[in-house]
Parts: sequence; C-alpha cells; structure tokens
Amino acid sequence: MTRVLVSGAAGRMGREVVRAVMAEGDLELVAAVDPAAAGNPVGEGSALSFAPDLDAAISEAAPDVMVDFTHPAAVAANIRTALARGVHCVVGTTGLPVEDLEALASSAPAGTCLFVAPNFAIGAVLMMRFAADAARFMPHVEIIELHHDRKADAPSGTALRTASLISAARTSVPDAPGRETEVAEGARGALSDDVTIHSVRLPGLVAHQEVLFGGQGQTLSIRHDSIDRTSFMPGVILAIRKVGQRSGLVVGLEHMMEE
Ligand code: NAP
Repeated sequence: MTRVLVSGAAGRMGREVVRAVMAEGDLELVAAVDPAAAGNPVGEGSALSFAPDLDAAISEAAPDVMVDFTHPAAVAANIRTALARGVHCVVGTTGLPVEDLEALASSAPAGTCLFVAPNFAIGAVLMMRFAADAARFMPHVEIIELHHDRKADAPSGTALRTASLISAARTSVPDAPGRETEVAEGARGALSDDVTIHSVRLPGLVAHQEVLFGGQGQTLSIRHDSIDRTSFMPGVILAIRKVGQRSGLVVGLEHMMEE
C-alpha cells in the first residue's frame, strides 16, 4: 500500500485526485490538506476531513507521497515541507520556474524524489513529443494554449515546456515577424525559448493546446484537448506508483511512461 496525501484536495484538480486515489486498491488516501476547507468532510466515501496544515498532516498521517495541485504561490513551501520530511512529491501545480525546482530538489534528503509534470495527460505528453519531432523539419512554429478563466498562471506550464522541447529540437531559429509593428501591445504573444506563445482564457474551456507549424505552402497543426479533468488522472496515478523508485528532480511524465 502506498500512503498518499493530497495537497489542494478541495480544489478542481485535488478533488479528482482524491477520487482517483480512492479508486485504486494499492493506494491509500491518508490525508487531504486544504486550509480554506479545513474541518469539512472530504466525502467521496472517505472518513477524513480536510486538514488545515501540511506539516501537521504529514506528522499525523505519515504519507509516502504528497500530491500537490494548489497554487503557484503555495507550492514551493509545500514541496519544501514534504521533502524535509522525506516524503516523495508528485507536483502538478504550474508556475514555478525550473531553477526554483532545482533549488528545492537540491535540499531534499537522499533517495527522495521531486517529480513535476506540467501536464499529466498522456495525450498532451505525446503532443509535446510530436511537436518536438516536427520542429526538426519545420522550425516556424507558434503555440496557442487555451484554458479556463480561473487559471492562475500564463503562459501555461505545458506551453513553456513545449517551447523548451521545440527549442532543444530545432536547428535554426527563424524570426518572429510582426513584433516591431504591433499595434496593440501583446498582439503577437509572448516569447519563451524563442517560441511565440498565445494564451487564451475563457469560461467553458478546460486545458487545450495547438502547436501550429508553417512551411512553404503548408501548415501542420498538432492539437491536444483535455475536455475533462479525469484526463489527468491515469498520469497522476502512474506517477504516484513510480515516484518512490526515483530520486532528485524529475520533470515530465514521459520519464515515467518510458519505464
Ligand atoms: P484550484 O481549483 O484553485 O485548486 C487549488 C486548491 O488549492 C484550492 O482549493 C486552494 O484553496 C488550495 N490551496 C491554496 N493554497 C494551499 C496550500 N498552501 N495548501 C493546500 N491547499 C492550498 O486550482 P486547480 O484548477 O485545481 O489547479 C491547481 C494547479 O494545478 C494549478 O497550478 C493548475 O495550473 C495546475 N494544473 C496542472 C495540471 C497538470 O496536468 N500538471 C492540470 C490541471 C491543472 P483556495 O481556493 O482557498 O486558495
């Protein structure tokens, strides 16, 4: 049995993780932390109540793994607390720069893993892989990412990761035309790793991304749509099962899928 604590357990993603963990025979939900919901029953057939404080919850519940889907402003402190107690981390919260993740992992006790996935949907991992492959042959590319209107960070972690993979794969960096003649600021999007990213935020959306390549007389679109938050759960469960076999910082679900 792997003992699992969920941080941000009352949130949109946290509630799905609670449900998904409880449905697995080899995983046990031992704590659900979410300060604003503290004291309320977790429900979903669990006898637990939401706990207010991560450190105290770790002391009481002795989890093997913390899963964090909270907020960019909260996640670093949560990771620090969990790693200091030797608890492996599976982190879905986006918005933390990779240098911060590296610093957090460097202070972890030996044998403890900080696993971070900008996107836990298997299809999104494949979309990123296909985009990196296409960029070797079609270097002109822009990313359009679309999310619900309550997302805290922009661009999305998935878009930043895709840009980084494209940048590593392509052999030339074409100009991003039109920036110097932008009539309304931001019209040409943001640049990350020399890749232009456009962020759309609208109610009704969940998590979507199109990677649009242009070449002579042709375009190529690689698109992934998470139409429901359950799309992330097989990846989260896979990471919970495998994180104990790894140590240090691991970024990207592909590292868990290949083994
Ligand atoms: P959400 O609905 O706002 O849920 C976050 C929850 O965490 C809220 O209940 C929030 O409470 C709580 N929280 C805030 N600070 C906390 C702390 N210190 N300790 C414990 N809980 C705390 O957000 P969401 O839509 O579930 O998204 C959460 C994160 O996951 C975001 O960064 C999002 O980008 C990311 N995400 C990642 C993936 C992926 O595949 N990697 C997929 C979807 C979303 P309050 O509301 O009171 O602040």
